Amino acid sequence: MFNYIVIGSGFAGSVIAERIANVLNEKVLIIEKRNHIGGNCYDYKNKDGIIIHKYGPHLFHTDYKDVFDYLSNFTDWNIYHHKVLAFIDGKKVPIPFNLNSLYIVFPQTLARRIEEKLLKRYPYNSKVPILDLKEENDEDLKFLADYVYQKVFLNYTAKQWGLKPEEIDKEVTARVPVFIGKDDRYFTDRYQAIPIEGYSKIFERMLNHKNIKIMLNTDFKEVINIDFENKKIYFLEQEFKGKLIFTGMIDELFDFKYGYLPYRSLDLRFESLEKEWFQEVATVNYPNDYDFTRITEFKHIHPVNLEKTIILREYPKQYTPNKDIPYYPIFTKENQELYNRYREEIEKFENIILVGRLAEYRYYDMDDVVKRALEVFEEKIK
Ligand code: UDP
Repeated sequence: MFNYIVIGSGFAGSVIAERIANVLNEKVLIIEKRNHIGGNCYDYKNKDGIIIHKYGPHLFHTDYKDVFDYLSNFTDWNIYHHKVLAFIDGKKVPIPFNLNSLYIVFPQTLARRIEEKLLKRYPYNSKVPILDLKEENDEDLKFLADYVYQKVFLNYTAKQWGLKPEEIDKEVTARVPVFIGKDDRYFTDRYQAIPIEGYSKIFERMLNHKNIKIMLNTDFKEVINIDFENKKIYFLEQEFKGKLIFTGMIDELFDFKYGYLPYRSLDLRFESLEKEWFQEVATVNYPNDYDFTRITEFKHIHPVNLEKTIILREYPKQYTPNKDIPYYPIFTKENQELYNRYREEIEKFENIILVGRLAEYRYYDMDDVVKRALEVFEEKIK
């Protein structure tokens, strides 16, 4: 019946399925464990008309024109520039920490001196990862680096990852660099926008195709068996000779035979409030106070005129396999080695393709996943 089976319907699986259906005009089956498509991008409108991101805030931003153009086939956009403030010693400070932030947290003369030194040392509008800034020798820049490290990164990262900034891959804290400019936006990408009707509609439109069948509420283990010794795949007891595109956790595919790959999970606690607004921007980070890392207020992302609002507090936690949602791969050298062990075994199969944040164990953003899925389709499927 099917030459292609896709496991998982987040961006990785949905983009590939859409390409197979439209470009190859082939039939494809998607197997999805949850009762909805869209993976962690899933959103919905609540009874008051507020669009809520069920699995935490998703802000689309990209420099890839091809990705933006591709997704524009499935949605119209509202231009939206995400802003984040961090609550530090009673003040709300723009994040990424930038030249404006300097003047909020330091006395004017000191702020000016640091600004001048930064501008001498770095090009205007450049981005400096905190772990690089910490290597500075100048006394004022060192002072700044220590301040930002202590007040913005150290405790937030301890909450978020259970680790110190230097214990995780440098790329993680480099996502939020110190910004040598006055742009208060969280991202600087060329395309920054929110799908007008939410993300779920993108997935509905991508997958609404006569060639695509979706099995919801189905753990792939219920229908797929893999014979690792003989390198064979079985779908409903019959040998499956087509291509299997797997976007789930690679260790689960192997029944965790070499051990569990570590992830970080979150407790997401939503609260409904009887007032128009809760905070001044979409997200306020709380690096040093409380057990949650940040509060997001959805009305800033999808404006509606209403005397009510919904906020979300994110409480990071350790991930327990088979119980919690694996939101973030924990990218350390040791974990990467374990991942590679699994990956090497998969590569012996000609017809299993891994793509996405979970299957590739990478901290991909939404645009990275779409980019990757489009590439994988061109290189390995088409
Ligand atoms: N980070 C931090 N303080 C902040 C914001 C970010 O220490 O105020 C660090 C933290 O380690 C976090 C990483 O930078 O996990 C990446 O942040 P980002 O906002 O990109 O995380 P995401 O939105 O993907 O959870």
